[in-house]
Amino acid sequence: MAEDKVRRFITIAFAETEGIKLQRRDKREPDREWKEIAQKRIQSIVRRRFKRQKAAILGWVQRQAVYTKAPIPPDDLFEDEEWDIEDEAAMMHIILWEMSKGAERFSSSIGMTFDTSGINVRAAKFARTYLTKWLADLDRTSREIVRNALALFVETPGMTIGDLVKMLPFNEERALRIAVTETTRIYAKGQMIAAQELKEQYPDVRIIKTWFTDNDDKVCEICGPLHGMTIDVDEPFYDIEDDLYQDGNPPAHVNCRCWIETSTDIRGTR
Ligand SMILES: [Zn+2]
Repeated sequence: MAEDKVRRFITIAFAETEGIKLQRRDKREPDREWKEIAQKRIQSIVRRRFKRQKAAILGWVQRQAVYTKAPIPPDDLFEDEEWDIEDEAAMMHIILWEMSKGAERFSSSIGMTFDTSGINVRAAKFARTYLTKWLADLDRTSREIVRNALALFVETPGMTIGDLVKMLPFNEERALRIAVTETTRIYAKGQMIAAQELKEQYPDVRIIKTWFTDNDDKVCEICGPLHGMTIDVDEPFYDIEDDLYQDGNPPAHVNCRCWIETSTDIRGTR
């Protein structure tokens, strides 16, 4: 896509979302506009999933209300094989695409050539594991919030369906938050996967990475202190909680827009 075409897409895409604060990613961020496209697409997938789940819940509540206010919806209200197939395919496409952008960024940043043909295999392997878990975790969180909201709805006299809707976890803010966080993660993962590939081919080459906070995260107590920190590419910037999500690279928290830059360590020292 040509640069001005990308810019036009972004302008239109960001103008579309009404009612929430629209925030561009940091100007200094590498591949900012590509990331914004990925972010926008993830947001649409999540939004579509939310819309379907919300409709399923409300339909169920209305059917229940005729007889009795039963608080626990059946689990399969959230599950639909067709949605899963559709959402997984769409997400897979974005993940692989964005990871390849991260990998390209890594390759151009280190100033040496290496065989990049193994990167795609690594990326596909990561994407499959990630995607299955991510979708399940997304639904699990939603399900818990829905259950609590329904319990409250049943226990509280006078609570309307309108009040219930406000408590459901299917709002635009959440979709955006998820899209921001996952965009940050997938790009960094692409960089790290390329780094692993290079390390395997050239174990003696020392690669370092530096953390950059965006303007918002400058004052964030998690990311603020990480800004400008440079460490070995294999080291984590913070304590690893979970290989898949909190792997020691950005994002350090939900809504984190931080990024890393990699280079070969020409000083050759640690
Ligand atoms: Zn951050």
